Amino acid sequence: MSLPPLVEPAAELTVDEVRRYSRHLIIPDVGMAGQKRLKNAKVLCVGAGGLGSPALMYLAAAGVGTLGIVEFDTVDESNLQRQIIHGQSDIGRSKAESARDSVKEINPYVEVILHNERLDNDNVMEIFAGYDLIVDGTDNFATRYLVNDAAVLLGKPYVWGSIYRFDGQASVFWADHGPCYRCLYPEAPPPGMVPSCAEGGVLGVLCASIGSIQVTEAIKLLTGVGEPLVGRLMIYDALEMTYRQVKVRKDPDCALCGENPTVTELIDYEAFCGAISEEAQEAALGNTITSKQLKEMQDNDEDILLIDVREPGEYEIVSIPGAVLIPKNEFLMGNALEKMPQDRKIVLHCKTGVRSAEVLAVLKSAGFANSVHLGGGVIGWVNQIEPAKPVY
Ligand SMILES: [Zn+2]
Repeated sequence: MSLPPLVEPAAELTVDEVRRYSRHLIIPDVGMAGQKRLKNAKVLCVGAGGLGSPALMYLAAAGVGTLGIVEFDTVDESNLQRQIIHGQSDIGRSKAESARDSVKEINPYVEVILHNERLDNDNVMEIFAGYDLIVDGTDNFATRYLVNDAAVLLGKPYVWGSIYRFDGQASVFWADHGPCYRCLYPEAPPPGMVPSCAEGGVLGVLCASIGSIQVTEAIKLLTGVGEPLVGRLMIYDALEMTYRQVKVRKDPDCALCGENPTVTELIDYEAFCGAISEEAQEAALGNTITSKQLKEMQDNDEDILLIDVREPGEYEIVSIPGAVLIPKNEFLMGNALEKMPQDRKIVLHCKTGVRSAEVLAVLKSAGFANSVHLGGGVIGWVNQIEPAKPVY
């Protein structure tokens, strides 16, 4: 599937620009028209970190006329291993300003617009509206869903990338022509299940591998050349040195871009991604079991009390055999506590592991030391133990 160019060509290139971009101009598929389109293009980079660094630098060098940078963070020494748009003397500076200076040094003809703020529900629509294309270099799920939803609601394409240790992924999401991020990942993973780069590490150069795919796709979309990565997910494994791709289909039941959308405006993304309280995080630390461990406990007839803390409607759709339903609120109100046994191991679970971690914190502080919760919840259980069951 090829798509028409996103951007109309600028009126002209100056003599200096023709000299600068000569290696592009002699590529037949790019040529004068393609370079003029790049000059006229407005691209927004969300984040000037690991992915944003190579993306901004190559977009600037390529001659994208206007580059927006959304970034509120400051440069830290631990960034420099991969965020090559910043240097030693930038430590402590605003990343947005540091990135702008590097872009200007690479290509003074680029106009840079700084959005020195955190992307949120209040500013995302207005910021995105000013650009033809968005490059997503964010590193957390709440912002990823925010970027996706805003892009779909505005009908804009964006190039997504993600990196972790030796593995990277990239795709182009454009609901007008293919799937969106929610078609691929309808639900955010439960907190704690996917470690961030800060927790798990990332090979610095991986940013260049994935960032370069993102820039390549951006240039293709802007100029209308080649086959865009719409409806395909690139998966890069640096250890095996393999790129493979999987087809991503538009989900007719997608909550956002499906036939009967339930998400028609921006939502609370922290809540959607299960922002988990500090108490719950602490309680879950070392007290989280896997679906397999739970299955083993049950198979070995261990004396456990398995409690489902979801709501009755959810319990009806799918439940784990042997689980007793006691909704979370019963614990928060305190009336469930008196029913809890002191002499049995208590295993809590919910849909994904957020609510059960909260209840675990309540139980722990009430003195029920022999209690754990199921990481990944019933969703994880169904995926691992009983794949035939419906997932809601
Ligand atoms: Zn979708």
